[in-house]
Amino acid sequence: MKILLSNDDGVFAPGLSALAAAVERFGTVTVVAPDRDRSGASNSLTLDCPLRVTRHDNGFFGTNGTPTDCVHLAVTGMLEEEPDIVLSGINAGGNLGDDVLYSGTVAAAMEGRSLGLPAIAISLVGERPFTHYATAGEVVARLLARIGESGLPAQTILNVNVPDLPLDQLKGLKATRLGNRHKAEPVVPGTDPRGKTLYWIGAAGPQQDGGEGTDFHAVAEGWASITPIHVDLTRHEVLAATGRWLEGAP
Ligand code: MN
Repeated sequence: MKILLSNDDGVFAPGLSALAAAVERFGTVTVVAPDRDRSGASNSLTLDCPLRVTRHDNGFFGTNGTPTDCVHLAVTGMLEEEPDIVLSGINAGGNLGDDVLYSGTVAAAMEGRSLGLPAIAISLVGERPFTHYATAGEVVARLLARIGESGLPAQTILNVNVPDLPLDQLKGLKATRLGNRHKAEPVVPGTDPRGKTLYWIGAAGPQQDGGEGTDFHAVAEGWASITPIHVDLTRHEVLAATGRWLEGAP
């Protein structure tokens, strides 16, 4: 199996080398990742400057692009052979519920899926400093073994969140739906050395829907959460009603 790895924490992040170590026995691993932390980059492409690639001593390729750029670049021309699967992570921090809309980790997997490849995003959920990347690596290895037997459903990305626990404390793998969060915490204002106001984006909101069946719930209970996601944001159940609503428009 030819495996392409990326992430959004950057090419030197510990989760990336942990993921590479966890999957190398499944085939040939190529790593193309941002040269710095691009967490929160979502599905952005860099269109205002060229992308440059640096090969590091460990064989990983770093680029000045986003996670989406990395996968796009690798699959559409940089690599001699197209990979069989795209893996993104292991992110230092959960990508639960609404997080998937902002996440560069999930975006790298989405880009793989958009280019026709099966894709998995993997995140470790807990408090810094994160410890048990090997647990998430083992979860990915189990999923790869399963994909080797029976593939993934078409157009499906697996969003995987693993609690930061030793492997023997993990209860197993559970299929989940995305929960959601309350609105985000406010921006955090500050002052620069010249007296001008600046802002940091604040934390994500606390969970709002974290009930049974959600990714939040599974992780809190000690399970690896496996959410199948896709990119169609259409709210199909109100499509017909929207048509009737528009009939009243001038
Ligand atoms: Mn990240």
